[in-house]
Amino acid sequence: MITIDGSRGEGGGQILRTALALSLVTGRPFRIENIRAGRRKPGLMRQHLTAVSAAAQIGHAEFKGGEIGSMRLAFAPRPAEAGHYHFAVGTAGSTTLVLQTVLPALMLADGPSELVLEGGTHNPMAPPFDFLERAFLPLLGKIGPNVTATLDRPGFYPAGGGQVTVRIEPAKALRKLELLERGHVVSRTARAAVANLDPKIAERELKVVGEKLGWPKESLKVAQLRDSHGPGNALTIEIESEAVTEVFTGFGERGVTAETVAERVVGEAKEYIEADGIPVGRHLADQLLIPMALAGGGKFRTLEPTPHTQTNAEVIREFIDVEIRMSEQAKDDWAIEIG
Ligand code: AMP
Repeated sequence: MITIDGSRGEGGGQILRTALALSLVTGRPFRIENIRAGRRKPGLMRQHLTAVSAAAQIGHAEFKGGEIGSMRLAFAPRPAEAGHYHFAVGTAGSTTLVLQTVLPALMLADGPSELVLEGGTHNPMAPPFDFLERAFLPLLGKIGPNVTATLDRPGFYPAGGGQVTVRIEPAKALRKLELLERGHVVSRTARAAVANLDPKIAERELKVVGEKLGWPKESLKVAQLRDSHGPGNALTIEIESEAVTEVFTGFGERGVTAETVAERVVGEAKEYIEADGIPVGRHLADQLLIPMALAGGGKFRTLEPTPHTQTNAEVIREFIDVEIRMSEQAKDDWAIEIG
């Protein structure tokens, strides 16, 4: 039985999700204590509970401690089963984080799967739908499995009510991906999306992007999202290069001006644009670790790894016998090598 300390490193939900994901893949049971001890409201929240029950359903697992607020959980799965599943977070909790939990097992299962996930699709502190679709899944495709995601209905905090459908075509064997240069920039787009809000918010955000990044009007797009249950605003800056597409996202919030939202995202995008051909941004880095570890190897260049990435690597090493080395080559130029 593997025992995980949920308070280690950055002490968030990622520790739990990585443990659930790799327990399903390896069939190894685990116990976790101090779940999300580093967060303001520690323990399991609705969204984490959905991840636990999704993992349990797919792996016919037995578990103890799966209640709201619980800081411990014991989880023992049987082999993961491909199929059609429907998971509803029930709040605006992130659908993509539930996906993160079950995708590794389903992409190695012995048949295709289809998931319908309900909840938030554009959440702060989680991979937004556009990042999943444009940045993460195409790279996963290069590693092996063919996974497509469709946004059926957007869901923003606090109303939620979004829906994503994900189709997973597993791969027989995973390939080792190497991502050392991004190559030439193929396209760049800033997309300011509003749901049930004045499109002027989006125009103000794009004005800042245009000025600060010097991008032409053709690269700046307003999107008015239909069918959202509540109001929402997401600004997405996408940089598509030959080898990789990176997506940076910011969210409108009450009390924060559209200009401030835009400046934050521009700051992140600028850091990446100016980072000397480095292909992988910070979030993509921590999300590539699991598929690369399962492939038995891989290598990429990235910015300085976050505590998130460091902690994720530690949890992966508990379940899989794989080396993950992070080495600084120059300031904010790191190589992460797996296997
Ligand atoms: P945690 O904070 O531990 O619940 O984990 C958050 C997860 O969401 C990690 O996998 C992050 O890489 C991911 N994430 C957070 N913000 C973003 C973002 N803006 N774009 C892509 N992924 C994100």
